[in-house]
Amino acid sequence: ARRKYVVGNWKMNGLADSIGEAQAIFAAARDHAAVDVALCPPFTLIGAMAAAVPGAAVGGQDCHSATSGAFTGSVAAPMLADAGATLVIVGHSERREGCGESDADVQAKAIAALGAGLSVILCVGEPREVRESGDAIAYVLAQVAGSLPGDFDAARLAIAYEPIWAIGTGLVPTVGDVAAMHGAIRAKLTEQAGATAAGDMRILYGGSVNGENAAELLDAGDVDGALVGGASLTAAKFLPIVAAA
Ligand code: 13P
Repeated sequence: ARRKYVVGNWKMNGLADSIGEAQAIFAAARDHAAVDVALCPPFTLIGAMAAAVPGAAVGGQDCHSATSGAFTGSVAAPMLADAGATLVIVGHSERREGCGESDADVQAKAIAALGAGLSVILCVGEPREVRESGDAIAYVLAQVAGSLPGDFDAARLAIAYEPIWAIGTGLVPTVGDVAAMHGAIRAKLTEQAGATAAGDMRILYGGSVNGENAAELLDAGDVDGALVGGASLTAAKFLPIVAAA
């Protein structure tokens, strides 16, 4: 059975004084033994957070596809692992759209991360126009096909479905639309990786998840957890989501 997985993506938020919030989150998360909880702070906080909470799942929000080299400003997957990270998000829409990352780029990053021993959360999701035109499932399945590594350890690769129009907007798809998308992604994973791998892989929902809507979203078919932005920055907002999982 797939364990529930609730992951906080702090995006470009957090200074050294935020480590206390992470300690509070991880301490309280121990009361929810059936849920895996992880936080992905900015690169600058990974080392301090991992050191402050031994055993906690701390991750990056992106990595480069190369292991080292002349890539000013980039961070390689082995560096994340070296800093104490155990996971990394790749293909977030804020990087696909804001930094021009293609499916091939995202696939290369996922391969690099798995190669460095990290777990991966690979993000997909459609823009508003695509949702409105009725083509969301086809669009997202093409992203899955284009970004999924050819060969991977299913226990270390999760998919996050994050409709772009739901991120930071307070808008969420209907539970029926979430279940339909997650079911379609599961079917695509079965086709690409086989039934055993697809059955082991967790598919998270992300986009305006909060303490009020988490229970309903996390109960939807094929939803194995949540990738949370704004509501992951404080224990007060994040822990109700963990409790709902
Ligand atoms: P919000 O929860 O702030 O909508 O962000 C979702 C997200 O992008 C998580 O990766």
